[in-house]
Amino acid sequence: MRTIYLTMSVGVSLFAMSACSPATDANTIAVSNASTKFDLSKEIETSPGEWLTTGLNYAETRHSGLTQINTETVKDLSLAWHYDLDTNRGQEATPLYNDGILYTTSAWSKVQALDAKTGKLLWQYDPEVPGEWAVKGCCDVVNRGVAYWDGKIYLGAFDGRLIAIDAYTGKKVWEKDTIVDREKSYTITGAPRIIKGKVIIGNGGGEFGVRGYVTAYDAETGDQDWRFYTVPGDPSKPVENEIHKSTKETWTGEYWKVGGGGTVWDSMAYDADLNLLYIGVGNGSPWNPAARSPEGGDNLFLSSIVALNPDTGKYVWHFQTTPGDQWDFTATQHMILADLEIDGAERKVLMQAPKNGFFYVLDRVTGEFISGEKFARVNWATGLDPVTGRPDIVPEAFYHKTGKPFLGEPGPMGAHSWHPMSYNDETGLVYFSAQDLNFPYIADSTIEEGTFELKDKTVNLGVDLAAIGLPDDQETRTSIRKSLKGRLVAWDPKTQKEAWRVDHGGPWNGGTLSTSGNLVFQGNRNQEFAAYHAKTGDKVWSTDVQTGVVAAPMTFEMDGEQYVALVAGWGGVLPLLLGELAHTDEGKVPNRSRVLMYKLNGGTELPLAENFAPVIDPPRQFATAEDIDSGRVIYARYCSGCHGDTAVAGGPIPDIRATYALHDADDWNEIILEGALEERGMVSFKDALSEEEVQNIRAYVIDRAEKSTSK
Ligand code: CA
Repeated sequence: MRTIYLTMSVGVSLFAMSACSPATDANTIAVSNASTKFDLSKEIETSPGEWLTTGLNYAETRHSGLTQINTETVKDLSLAWHYDLDTNRGQEATPLYNDGILYTTSAWSKVQALDAKTGKLLWQYDPEVPGEWAVKGCCDVVNRGVAYWDGKIYLGAFDGRLIAIDAYTGKKVWEKDTIVDREKSYTITGAPRIIKGKVIIGNGGGEFGVRGYVTAYDAETGDQDWRFYTVPGDPSKPVENEIHKSTKETWTGEYWKVGGGGTVWDSMAYDADLNLLYIGVGNGSPWNPAARSPEGGDNLFLSSIVALNPDTGKYVWHFQTTPGDQWDFTATQHMILADLEIDGAERKVLMQAPKNGFFYVLDRVTGEFISGEKFARVNWATGLDPVTGRPDIVPEAFYHKTGKPFLGEPGPMGAHSWHPMSYNDETGLVYFSAQDLNFPYIADSTIEEGTFELKDKTVNLGVDLAAIGLPDDQETRTSIRKSLKGRLVAWDPKTQKEAWRVDHGGPWNGGTLSTSGNLVFQGNRNQEFAAYHAKTGDKVWSTDVQTGVVAAPMTFEMDGEQYVALVAGWGGVLPLLLGELAHTDEGKVPNRSRVLMYKLNGGTELPLAENFAPVIDPPRQFATAEDIDSGRVIYARYCSGCHGDTAVAGGPIPDIRATYALHDADDWNEIILEGALEERGMVSFKDALSEEEVQNIRAYVIDRAEKSTSK
């Protein structure tokens, strides 16, 4: 950080001696005076040992040039320190490193500034997201990290606030509400990006009936600069973005009444030479187009990569991966910019491996399709048109037209989800977490019956979740679980072929980090953090981290030593939704949420792990078979998204088959109707469910507890 290096060094060392000293305030002033000169892209280029934006650089390569830890020395890599986070929900953040301080986030959008050498907490910022906001998210109260710019840390909080925090004191500088309608289920889980002094942030909510957009704010003042909606709005109102005068032709019916979707909940990239900001756009909302755009249409810009001018927010080009998406095939997955020689010509490309299972290479100047191939098991499309990249979709996949269930592969978990990739331009390979798992898409019959409407406190998919509970018998469940696959893949984007793979036995493994030490680092569902040879995939190092890992590691250099940091903590949507299917052969994957810091001869170890297995001891059944079945349907609609398919917890959320409240109707009502556990994210369902329905859910969970032999 050349521009502000001197003032910051003084500030940091004084801060270490005395928190909140006047010297810290003086430092803050000096930093803000330097703001006119600050240029993050230059800082990134000139600070090779630092990690200043979530993807390491604007091309989002997550490939570090550091070499001290390499295929020879990695055998001496060990834990330097660990820091216990104060939540045990899913951890998805990539930390930043700047000048002696590691900045990360944990679940519930809390920010931690840690002394990178010792792991000592310098400050924690808790935005105090209301517990009841948890139900507005599809995929756990996760956060994928912060942005840094000119002495400030930028946080997108789960309840939609964008918050600027002083990087040295942890004090809030400003706060803006990014949500256009707080009655709707908007959230933020992604890391903001900073382009030329503007903070860019999108939202989540594509499962709930919202309209997606991305907004730019002045990093100094928080004033809103521009907003780009990804889908057209109400045609009776003025058009916010010129381009939607034409995109609305790709929609039919009264799409604006159900939001349409297209949320920009994670990935962005930036090319400073072209002055283009790339945003990854999410799925259609509701999923089922019969409830969204009933006469068909491509529904731009759902499931698209869109290039914008970052100065104005004006549309430049788009490429749609999945026209008329109805499978939750977001194009929000990580995008990497690279220069590749293809057919003898140097091409400026953008690479993405979105949920739909095809690896795309696009020309990032024009958006032109260069190539795309399947990287996992795919049955919804036979292939892509070699010129346009448009998928050739099989008729059975259109479950809204056939009236039949479609066992889609991949499903909404994706053949690859948000888990960051990395690209090593020396090996020419992209490293990422790929998976094979299917999902039965069954149209919600209320659409055809004309009674479909958006519901509060639950997802609005137009797909019947109640119809897809798994069978009770353990043998079938185990065989389904074993059919789900996941692996680390090294992909050659020029040939569109897999170079090597490492099988992890199941889906939902961590993001990756690549280094010039010829290494790829990745954590996995098997409670392991490992390093692989970048060219062969041979495992050259691994360590037990006592929890499943979903986040990506990062690396930096401090005082001549290379460090590797990882935020560990099993969670996110797959364990929440799939329940028992997310288990390993050893049972439920534990969540022990920590920041783990490694270096050569780190010299410390994790404490011995305690056992977390739930004790399942249900009371006697009190209800009729009919009531239990009614409870099953309500459970699937309102509860399974967090507490797991058929009431078997897969993630960090408590296994409700083991809850004390199962034994007492009043205790149960206290929680579900009166909101007794609201602070922890378990909201009251009083306005959505009756007491009878709530007791039928209890009967169903007792039934499940009685029948389970699960660990
Ligand atoms: Ca989605």
